[in-house]
Amino acid sequence: MTALLHRPLPTQDPFDTSAWAIGAPRLLAGLQHVERLDVSTHLATHGPLPGTDLAKLLAYLDGGGLAGRGGAGFPLATKLRTLADGPRQVIVNGTESEPASRKDRVLLRRTPHLVLDGALAVAAAIGARDVTVAVHDEQTAAAVRAAVSERPDARRLAVKIVPGGFVSGEARAVVRALRGGPARPPGRRTPPTVDGVLLANVETFAQLAILLRLGPHRFAETGTPAEAGTTLLTVGGAVGRPGVVEIPLGTPLGIVLAAAHSAEPQAIVVGGYHGSWIAPIAQIRLSRAGIASAGGTFGAGVLLVVDHATCALGELARVTGWLAGESARQCGPCVFGLPALAADVQALAMGNAGAVANAFAHARTVDGRGACAHPDGAARFVTSALHLLHDETDQHLRQGGCGRPTLGRLPIGATR
Ligand code: SF4
Repeated sequence: MTALLHRPLPTQDPFDTSAWAIGAPRLLAGLQHVERLDVSTHLATHGPLPGTDLAKLLAYLDGGGLAGRGGAGFPLATKLRTLADGPRQVIVNGTESEPASRKDRVLLRRTPHLVLDGALAVAAAIGARDVTVAVHDEQTAAAVRAAVSERPDARRLAVKIVPGGFVSGEARAVVRALRGGPARPPGRRTPPTVDGVLLANVETFAQLAILLRLGPHRFAETGTPAEAGTTLLTVGGAVGRPGVVEIPLGTPLGIVLAAAHSAEPQAIVVGGYHGSWIAPIAQIRLSRAGIASAGGTFGAGVLLVVDHATCALGELARVTGWLAGESARQCGPCVFGLPALAADVQALAMGNAGAVANAFAHARTVDGRGACAHPDGAARFVTSALHLLHDETDQHLRQGGCGRPTLGRLPIGATR
């Protein structure tokens, strides 16, 4: 059963979007009645947040099986257990630099108190001196500031705007920008926890607020045995009903596509632009394990339909060129490798023999070589498409194209 919870506001803001649910909503509960849950509506919908401490928090996280809901899916419990001693800080990463993703902005703008509940609970449990919500855009910042002003327990909570851009949303880039440095990943792959920083994605904190209210057993009443609860997806591409949808983890892909009024899919892009292209098999379960078994990555919870009306290789070339331009240009794989990979995909779309082999070779060259995961993610995005799109590739190599226009089903650019 699907329910439309919210229609877009009458605005030109590219980040406004519909929100809907399959099954009973948890994170999006209440949005069927109001456009935004203020603190009193939030409390009427969810009830008060129970008190917690670190032991209870860890027991709930272990019992509820809550994986992180950011791109890497790193468990929050592991971050808590590896947090360095000394001064501690909580950062809510609301930068959402994935161009197709809207889920974090929907939470921060429309049901911000769930996110603040989760962040303040973690801060109290670990003895953090403050909480910072990092975002990329002024409208989201204003929405969070309004929520902060509504509650007396958020005095140590700051909202900061950090520079936009795809790699600027990476965890260590966010920490660096908040400390006055460049919004780029530093040269070493060390997690923020070594500096006492507990950084997690917006949805992770909101899910924690639900978990603390429900307890681990009720939290696990929906989802799969291995992955409890619901998740948010941003659904887009060739669909008649784009937006942010809350689903029980493990919901079949076909149900989401039907509810989104999808065109007949040629391929599905899952996980965003560090994610993968997968075949549109209706039975694929939308969980981390289900998407992994289909050869994909859950990543940022993005689901984009590439239909038969558009040139899939043209879509791939467009995004790969954009990814090459989004690097911080400080490591060899990004300076040299990604532009070469983008040129290969462009040449392939134009029917250039040899471009496929070159693309695989350049993807191997950049994989794992950067100071952050940007080259790895871009390589995965390209190679998963090339493994999937055999027929399209053959057609382009034989005929110099497929005759279909590139319609821009995969959005780029709205991250800054
Ligand atoms: S790998 Fe690329 S995006 Fe990542 S830090 Fe190096 S130059 Fe920047």
